[in-house]
Amino acid sequence: MKRISNYIDGQLVAPNSGKYLDNIDPSRGEKYGEIPDSDASDVQAATLAAKTAFPMWSKTSREERSRLLLKIADLIDANHEMLAQAESKDNGKPIKLARKVDIPRASANFRFFATAILHESSEFHRTDISTINYTDKSAIGVAGCISPWNLPLYLFTWKIAPALAAGNTVVAKPSEITPMTAFLLSELCIEAGLPKGVLNIVHGLGQKVGQAISEHPDIPVISFTGGTATGKQIAATAAPMFKKLSLELGGKNPNIIFADCDFEEALNTTVQSSFANQGQICLCGSRIFVERPIYERFRDAFVQKVKQLKVGVPSDEETNLGAVVSEGHMKKVLTYIDLAKQEGGKVLTGGNQVRLQGDYAQGYYLAPTVIEGLDFNCRTNQEEIFGPVVTMMPFDAEEEVIMMANSTQYGLAATVWTQELNKAHRVASALKSGIVWVNCWLLRDLRTPFGGVKNSGVGREGGWDALNFFTEKKNVCIKL
Ligand code: NDP
Repeated sequence: MKRISNYIDGQLVAPNSGKYLDNIDPSRGEKYGEIPDSDASDVQAATLAAKTAFPMWSKTSREERSRLLLKIADLIDANHEMLAQAESKDNGKPIKLARKVDIPRASANFRFFATAILHESSEFHRTDISTINYTDKSAIGVAGCISPWNLPLYLFTWKIAPALAAGNTVVAKPSEITPMTAFLLSELCIEAGLPKGVLNIVHGLGQKVGQAISEHPDIPVISFTGGTATGKQIAATAAPMFKKLSLELGGKNPNIIFADCDFEEALNTTVQSSFANQGQICLCGSRIFVERPIYERFRDAFVQKVKQLKVGVPSDEETNLGAVVSEGHMKKVLTYIDLAKQEGGKVLTGGNQVRLQGDYAQGYYLAPTVIEGLDFNCRTNQEEIFGPVVTMMPFDAEEEVIMMANSTQYGLAATVWTQELNKAHRVASALKSGIVWVNCWLLRDLRTPFGGVKNSGVGREGGWDALNFFTEKKNVCIKL
């Protein structure tokens, strides 16, 4: 039974309360470890350590910051298999996904921002012949980074890497549901020689640890990824203190499939974009709109492919869908499937819990579920389910599908499938969404702006956006 520790001021330490929470293995539905049940006093200790380390870290040369962060990236790569195993066990995701996506992306995040700072420049504005301005950029101070459970190390490092690269020190909180790889990362940071207090990781509940980070007066900048309701609460806490906020929140992403698409490509990718990571990626498409002339053909081929997906033990190489993250989440998703039926939906495949054999009989497995026959504006089609559940709807006209796609409170990502260039541009432009993929899904270039509109969030991550977020700009005007 593994008991993990907080990482504060360079040390692995127990929570002040001495209390621990259970860490559950979702593939078996049983406890396999313990997590610090930290509170505001641990956040206080972490913030003090970060505040003390800030003057030194922010003055450390870019080259040295880059060298240390690259060393962490190398250590992640060197421990790739160990981290992938840990991520798969903690989250329930298939091992092949953790190996291929989660862990490589964690080291890529460090590498990307560690090298970006070596190429950063600043602006200069000449007002007239005798007046110039330059933009001075500096680290802000202690950054609070709060991340969710669906892509644990991937999203955790997506925040802390730019924060640290820009010269801030960090107090971070991974999701209490999936804390393991963040803990393993703290061991790697010690091995890499990251100076004490530069990164601090406090484990525990959102309502205690996350809340203490949001309200701490010495944490002026907060980067959060998670649900919209939590984002609202953090914004309400942070706004009166005028904290700088980046909020990456929920989604209800549309897939728009026009009749002129490359049918096979659209089909195969839509299966992926629906059920990768058990549908628990904020970028998964959960509403599939198909142009009427190909609706039935696409639907039948889609359902056929979905029926072939294997729900299984995460450590099995053949598994397509592992366990969903927790019992509570499994029940939430099942409640939405019931709601869909009450709203008149017809379940074409799935719709049920899957019971595996032996040690895994109590695990949280769900069959990939496809539902049709629902109105675009019913609750099932408007609320985020965040599980292996998609709905299918036919459409007749471009304006109609744009209206339906834009009808939710969310606006994170969308996919558009068409071979007609003008239509692709038109629809991409009309979609109220932070990201649009045309004839592809989840192709990520880390330089591009990442984030949502409407209730999917505020601000952009990625590339210079992330480094600018963690930086304060000052204009210096000089009369010559
Ligand atoms: P939550 O909002 O429940 O939690 C996210 C993080 O916030 C967790 O670490 C959580 O801790 C913490 N937290 C909870 N309450 C508070 C609080 N009052 N103050 C500060 N922190 C708090 O999201 P989930 O972990 O359930 O993740 C799923 C959600 O994340 C989905 O809505 C999904 O769409 C969204 N998401 C968005 C992404 C994007 O880029 N836009 C990417 C990935 C996911 P604890 O776990 O202990 O409760």
